[in-house]
Amino acid sequence: MKDHQHIADALQARMAQLSERVERLEEDLRQPLDPDFAEQATGMEASEANEALEGASWAEMAQIRAALSRIEDGTYGICVSCGDSIAPARLEALPFAQQCIDCARGR
Ligand SMILES: [Zn+2]
Repeated sequence: MKDHQHIADALQARMAQLSERVERLEEDLRQPLDPDFAEQATGMEASEANEALEGASWAEMAQIRAALSRIEDGTYGICVSCGDSIAPARLEALPFAQQCIDCARGR
């Protein structure tokens, strides 16, 4: 797993950021809505946006967990479709990539 240590470090840092963001969002969602109607409408829109953002954060965290476990078990950087190694430049740009560029393009 040492091969991809710097990617693992970056993913773990990103994971920490995301879990902090999710915590903050959940705190906001727990705030009671303002009784004033105009304020309430804005509050509801904001909480919908927060929920969308929270969902996106969870999705990204799931991808990070999957990438980290592939790094752990030594399958990280190997295309799940053809078994070739994924180009390092591609992994830098897209650390969650599970396919090489050829398979991703549907060769
Ligand atoms: Zn491939």
